[in-house]
Amino acid sequence: MPEHLEAFDDVLAANDEYVKTFDLDGLAPRAARGLAIVTCMDSRIEPLDMLGLKPGDAKIIRNAGARVTEDVLRTLALATHLLGVDRIMVVPHTNCKMASATRDQVIDIVEQASGIDVRSLDFRLVSDQRETLLIDVQKIRSWPFFPPGIAVSGFVYDVGTGRLTAVT
Ligand SMILES: [Zn+2]
Repeated sequence: MPEHLEAFDDVLAANDEYVKTFDLDGLAPRAARGLAIVTCMDSRIEPLDMLGLKPGDAKIIRNAGARVTEDVLRTLALATHLLGVDRIMVVPHTNCKMASATRDQVIDIVEQASGIDVRSLDFRLVSDQRETLLIDVQKIRSWPFFPPGIAVSGFVYDVGTGRLTAVT
């Protein structure tokens, strides 16, 4: 086994156990509930559990801050045209670092931690979470490459209570 794989010993061992009871063989690639969820990578979010979903029900797209980027639009285009998605939820959350830190703060934190200069990166930070959500949802609604009749809404997920609140 290559030496660099040692970093993954624990999860590879867990996977050896997983395959013994694996029961998702034959699960259809289409989203059974027609749902796509764009949310943050934050560990406090369990997208399936919080919406009463099970594996196969939805397409989950995650990035820092739940931002609607070109890559998210590309992925949603494939999800709507090919994978049965006809409704899209955009779900940022409370206490998101992406919505509370400034660009300079993030650059400073990385610089202090590693000495690496990340000023050339676009972190897509959010200064007004509600306003940014409205814009991101509108970006999906007005994108011309989706099939007609797609439902799109924006919500905020409260990581302290688990509650989802509709914003738009
Ligand atoms: Zn977040």
